[in-house]
Amino acid sequence: MNGKEQNVPVVSASEIAEYSYCALSWQFQRSRKAPDPPVTPSIERGRRVHAEVGRTLSQVEQERRAFWLLVIAGYALLALALIVLLGGIPVIGAFGNYMEVLALLAGATVFFVLALWKYRQTRTVREEFGIPEGELLYSDLDTSPEVLFSGVHRISGRPDYVLRDEMTGAYIPVEVKSGRARKPYWNHILQLAAYCLLVEEHYGTSVPYGTLVYGNAGQHRIEFTPELRVQVLATVDEIRTCLRDGTARRNHNAAVRCRSCAYRAECGYALRDE
Ligand code: SF4
Repeated sequence: MNGKEQNVPVVSASEIAEYSYCALSWQFQRSRKAPDPPVTPSIERGRRVHAEVGRTLSQVEQERRAFWLLVIAGYALLALALIVLLGGIPVIGAFGNYMEVLALLAGATVFFVLALWKYRQTRTVREEFGIPEGELLYSDLDTSPEVLFSGVHRISGRPDYVLRDEMTGAYIPVEVKSGRARKPYWNHILQLAAYCLLVEEHYGTSVPYGTLVYGNAGQHRIEFTPELRVQVLATVDEIRTCLRDGTARRNHNAAVRCRSCAYRAECGYALRDE
């Protein structure tokens, strides 16, 4: 990396969301001109939800591994039964071959039934907490993993968790939001897009989509399209321009955002309710 690149400020994925929500609010936080916002009941709720999802995520991952062990054990017994049937190899010496095959098939059935029971049990928990299917690779919910960093784009961040889709092998960042939403918010989409970039570079793979999960366990699949890639990088450029020139302006006309803003008292551009 040359000296010029090192001078490019690193922008975090959560900053991208904050900037998109309100550029002025982001600037207050970044410049630390105002104190940290107080811990409101919604922030408390968010922390509780994240901790709960984190604990559940670990349990679900253990159950997922147990499911696959049972499936593998079932198939191993099936293969053994086939070998005995075709080759006539006596596996359990005291019985005839057919008895051995029957015993192996019965064992395989038990493993498959147990696997199915585990799958259904896990699916219920997944639905309750909005956890998508997949192998857990990374979690920021109940552990403190490394911060992902993109040397190419000079952005950083920790997605709530990353899954590997077992059908396609794709790496999927997942972001959990404690609030309820019927439709995903744009600033959350941009934050997730930043995580897609980070996961791509960290794992050396392309990311087809990410998932936003809201408090009502609603899952929203966000396609990581070329357009979204351009939009998130354009937002990062805007943020860097603001950092360089101090030119942040209110970038919304939503009075509701100002109503609940922690910087309302310091801000000269707060919108009033009509
Ligand atoms: S009061 Fe409104 S314009 Fe000002 S920082 Fe807060 S959200 Fe932004």
